[in-house]
Amino acid sequence: MSAIPQERRVVTAIPGPKSQELQARRLSAVAGGVGSVLPVFTARADGGIIEDVDGNRLIDFGSGIAVTTVGASAEAVVRRASAQLADFTHTCFMVTPYEGYVEVCEALAELTPGDHAKKSALFNSGAEAVENAVKIARAYTKRQAVVVFDHGYHGRTNLTMALTAKNMPYKNGFGPFAPEVYRVPVAYGYRWPTGPDNCGPEAAAQAVDQITKQIGPDNVAAIIIEPVLGEGGFIEPAKGFLPAVARFARDNGIVFVADEIQSGFCRTGQWFACEDEGIVPDLITTAKGIAGGLPLSAVTGRAEIMDAAHAGGLGGTYGGNPVACAGALGAIETMREQDLNGKARRIEEVMKRRLSAMAEKFDVIGDIRGRGAMIAIELVKDRATKEPDAGAAGALARACHAESVLVLTCGTYGNVLRFLPPLVIGEDLLNEGLDVIETALAAV
Ligand SMILES: *Cc1c(COP(=O)(O)O)cnc(C)c1O
Repeated sequence: MSAIPQERRVVTAIPGPKSQELQARRLSAVAGGVGSVLPVFTARADGGIIEDVDGNRLIDFGSGIAVTTVGASAEAVVRRASAQLADFTHTCFMVTPYEGYVEVCEALAELTPGDHAKKSALFNSGAEAVENAVKIARAYTKRQAVVVFDHGYHGRTNLTMALTAKNMPYKNGFGPFAPEVYRVPVAYGYRWPTGPDNCGPEAAAQAVDQITKQIGPDNVAAIIIEPVLGEGGFIEPAKGFLPAVARFARDNGIVFVADEIQSGFCRTGQWFACEDEGIVPDLITTAKGIAGGLPLSAVTGRAEIMDAAHAGGLGGTYGGNPVACAGALGAIETMREQDLNGKARRIEEVMKRRLSAMAEKFDVIGDIRGRGAMIAIELVKDRATKEPDAGAAGALARACHAESVLVLTCGTYGNVLRFLPPLVIGEDLLNEGLDVIETALAAV
């Protein structure tokens, strides 16, 4: 049962007076480099609703960027994390270990694709997981080069900024970046020059050709890809692309890493998005949805690769914190018991049906894509030229925010409106959120 009424409510301007007061304090105390999509200050959140300090209730189509898949105060997460909090908050797993860490690694071995022997290591953030995947792949292959893709996003630390494609806001002015990172094309069907039909094989051939000619496969430690690209614009690589790249990696002794930090844990209607084309990655990075909002991330993969790093070579003071591990076990329990994969597929059905109807009325919608509860519309000034319309994405987001519906934008061109509702959202709220989006589309 949700503690907060699952109803949209607008009682003040958004942001309201209390939020504005807090925002003024924030502006003088918090570094300017840390932004916020919408400066309404949160009082409580649960199910599909975020309640702000002025009493407004927002329909949540963001899940704190794909994190609160099970809701922001899921019963099992709160119960397990509270019990752990009362027992002990920290020992450091590298000093004296505890069972929760081991249990999370066992669950990851069971849930991730492939029936080979697997091991995991736990960390705090997505970027840290990606960095560690690179460390592990380099230790295993004794090679240095890392291949990433156009429109890819992997984090904000020095190495993961290098792995990330987009300059603003992630990289601008923050160089120099880590060396031995190479970027190749991805199968972005909507914008592929010869159209979407042959995009998968054509893009794979280009990627393989560039790796072969420019780097040399024998120098490549890892190929890292998001099976559905997140920040880059919810791009599903065209069919055939991921299997071809994974095959190339296998044939050349390259560690294939699926970055499922945004797409994993039921978000796309499967435990992991790479299952869609039967991909079995060597390593998989997870974070965001893993622990119901508590900070936790993981690298999971083939035991022989995971064991390549020397003892003491991996870790960190807080990695796999016991409260976060308890939260993860609660989140996984919720995903299983409430069939959140099924819920995600139902959300896709409802959203795609409604958005397709909107696309018939509004030419600004150039493309509708994504899977499960990871759905986006790409906005264009002209359907023929596909000229990106970032202004429309911003205006639509603002119009939705004013009506108490929280949506996010993304995309290399800033012209994608993305929808990431908690998977536990009620269907009435989902439809009401879509009603608000439709009204906003008519107004913009
Ligand atoms: C969010 C994200 C990251 C970075 O995770 P943080 O926890 O913000 O460090 C890495 N990869 C992908 C695909 C992401 O969506």
